[in-house]
Amino acid sequence: MFIRGTPLNAFLFSLSLEFKVSSNAGLVKPEGQRNYGQSLAHGLIFHYIESMNESALILVDIQNDFCPGGALAVPGGDSIIPSLNALLEKPERSGFFKVVATADWHPEGHVSFASSHEGKEPFETVELEGLEQHLWPDHCIAGSVGASMHPGLAADTVDVFIRKGRRKDLDSYSAFFENDGLTRTGLNGYLNDFGIRRVYLAGLALDWCVYFTARDARRLGFETVILEDLSLPVDQPAGFAAEKVAEMKERGVLFLNSAALPEFP
Ligand SMILES: [Zn+2]
Repeated sequence: MFIRGTPLNAFLFSLSLEFKVSSNAGLVKPEGQRNYGQSLAHGLIFHYIESMNESALILVDIQNDFCPGGALAVPGGDSIIPSLNALLEKPERSGFFKVVATADWHPEGHVSFASSHEGKEPFETVELEGLEQHLWPDHCIAGSVGASMHPGLAADTVDVFIRKGRRKDLDSYSAFFENDGLTRTGLNGYLNDFGIRRVYLAGLALDWCVYFTARDARRLGFETVILEDLSLPVDQPAGFAAEKVAEMKERGVLFLNSAALPEFP
């Protein structure tokens, strides 16, 4: 019953994504990967139906401080909000079973702030206990206006918010792990509880928190798709973002324009 009356582009999208994922050498297959077996057509129909319940949208750091006027603004950061709102109005229409939003959420005096390191300026780096720490202007201080989600974001359909970077001595870019690569945010457990196998990422900034989230998503075995028109980079120095995009593609991350998302009835 799902197939009848369903836009063709949704079905074709499902096929093309499966093909790309399957044909990408070196990809980590999620645990419990199904073997459709009986026939190709049978398998594709099941893939299509199941895909409605297997995808989550992860919105990365759509916060005031990362938008124009904020402490660490991504150029044009708020320009993606109208298109994100169109997805958020009815997430299941695009096949998103769950919607997650992350927020950078630091205590005052956080280790990532240049102001916490004597004689250091924003955008310099320091080494702390073997980890390279990039230094930023003070940003996203817990409870501040800068840390709040952008007021234009229609976040009513978000299922869960993940706050990261809350420990004073450890930064966190990824939605899954803090920067030690070990401390979990709990997002993997949440997605696994609902049987999510594919994550779509959008947000700020493409070459930092979206990049680290995508990297960890692949490491954890999720099919990972970045909505490329809804993810904006800092790109400093120029060319940095292109390097990160190339690396993500090597890791099996797919890039898709949101206009090509499936439309479910
Ligand atoms: Zn931060």
